[in-house]
Amino acid sequence: MFRTWHGEERALDPGALDAFRTALQGEVRTPGDAGYDEARAVWNGTIDRHPALIVSAQTVEDVQQVVAFAQQHEIRLAVRGGGHNFAGHSTYDGGIVLDLSPMRQLQIDPARCLAVPGPGLCWADLDAATQQHGLAVTGGQISHTGIAGFTLGGGMGWLARQLGLTIDHLLAADIVTADGTLRRAAPDADVDLYWAIRGGSGNFGVATSFTHRLQPAGPEVSVYQLAFPIEAAAPVFPEAEKLLEASPPSLSATFVFLTIPEGVPADALMLVSTASSELAVQSFARFRRLGTPVFEETVRVPYTALQRMLDQVAAPGLRYYGRGNFLDTLDPLVIEPLASAYLEAPSPQSLVLFVRLDGAVATVPPAAMALAHRNRPWAVTALAI
Ligand SMILES: Cc1cc2nc3c(=O)[nH]c(=O)nc-3n(C[C@H](O)[C@H](O)[C@H](O)COP(=O)(O)OP(=O)(O)OC[C@H]3O[C@@H](n4cnc5c(N)ncnc54)[C@H](O)[C@@H]3O)c2cc1C
Repeated sequence: MFRTWHGEERALDPGALDAFRTALQGEVRTPGDAGYDEARAVWNGTIDRHPALIVSAQTVEDVQQVVAFAQQHEIRLAVRGGGHNFAGHSTYDGGIVLDLSPMRQLQIDPARCLAVPGPGLCWADLDAATQQHGLAVTGGQISHTGIAGFTLGGGMGWLARQLGLTIDHLLAADIVTADGTLRRAAPDADVDLYWAIRGGSGNFGVATSFTHRLQPAGPEVSVYQLAFPIEAAAPVFPEAEKLLEASPPSLSATFVFLTIPEGVPADALMLVSTASSELAVQSFARFRRLGTPVFEETVRVPYTALQRMLDQVAAPGLRYYGRGNFLDTLDPLVIEPLASAYLEAPSPQSLVLFVRLDGAVATVPPAAMALAHRNRPWAVTALAI
C-alpha cells in the first residue's frame, strides 16, 4: 500500500513495480524486504516512519525515473541526502523515499579551487578530501550531516564568520525538477532556480550534484572551550558578545548551555580561531577574563578534527526535538529565562546552542538568494535530547 498526494491509501500494481525495479540501477526496498528497517532509519530516533518504497538511487537517470514514477502514481516523494532533517522531512509514511546516499561521486580541482560533490556525501567525506589540498568550504559542525540538505538550507559552520555560508560559495547545482528535467542552476543558467536553491531547501527539485568554490583553510585551527556555572550566563554571554564583536572574523564562536560531565549545568563558550597559534591565544585571553571557569581547555587540532569534535553530542538514533530562532543580541532578558528553562530540562544531554553569524555572512545582501536571515547575528537552537 502507498499513500497518494491526496492522502488516499492505494495498492501498487505489481506489474508497474516490477517494471520500475527493472528500469533502475539502484535498489528498491519495500516493507518486509531484507534491509528495509535499516534503510528507513533517519538521524532523529523519534522519526519512525514506514515508506512504501525506498529507492537507493545510483545515477541521475535513477532520480529521473523515481520522480516520474511518483508523478505517474501520485505517490508522495521524500528526498533524502544525509537524513539529518530534525523534523523528518526526508521520509514519509506510505511514500517513496528517494535515498541519494549511494551518489557519493566527488571531483576536486585544486588548481581552480572547486569541489563537485554528489548528494550522498556527508561533511566528513568532503572535508577529508578538500583538506588534502589545504582547502575547504564552510561545512557543518557535526561531520555526519549530509552536504545536500545542509547546502540547500544555507549552511552555517565554523568558517562562516570568515568565509560566509556554504551557499555563498555554491557556484552551481544540477537539479532534477518535478517534470523530470535535469537542469543546471548557475549564475548564467536558470537564474531563478539558482536563486531559489540557495536557502530554499529541498523545495525546488532534487539536486544530483553541487559545485562549491573552495578557500584555503587549515591544516590546523585553535579551539578554546571554557564553561562557567549557568547562573553566570546572563552577565557572561552579553560580555562575551561584546568581545566577539571586537574580534577579527578569523575568530568564530558558538555559546552553549550544556551539562558538563560532572553533572553541572553550565554556560560554555566554544571559540575557534583560524589565525596563527600566537594570535589565537591572544584573542582567547580576552575571554578568560570573564570569570572563573569550571572547565577550560585550549587545543590546536587539524581542521578535520574540529569538524568531528562534536559528533558524539548529536549521535544518530537518539531521540531529538529541536526549535530554533534568530536573535539580534544576547540580551539578559532572553538569556535569563532560557537558562532557567535549561535547568528544568529532564535530560542532561539537552543543549541550547547560540551560533554567531556575522562577518562575511552579513556582507551578502538579504535579497541576493532565498536565505534572508543575514542581519540577525545569533542562530539559536534549543535541543531536547
Ligand atoms: C546533528 C546535526 C547538526 C547540524 N549542524 C548544522 C550546522 O552546523 N550548520 C547548519 O547550517 N545546519 C546544521 N544542521 C541542520 C542541517 O543542515 C539540516 O538538517 C540539513 O537539512 C541536513 O541535511 P541532510 O542531507 O543530512 O538531511 P536530509 O534529512 O536528508 O534532508 C533535509 C532536507 O533537504 C532535502 N534534501 C536532501 N537532499 C536533497 C537533494 N539532493 N535535493 C533536494 N532536496 C534534498 C530533504 O528532502 C529534506 O527536506 C544540523 C543538523 C543536525 C541533525
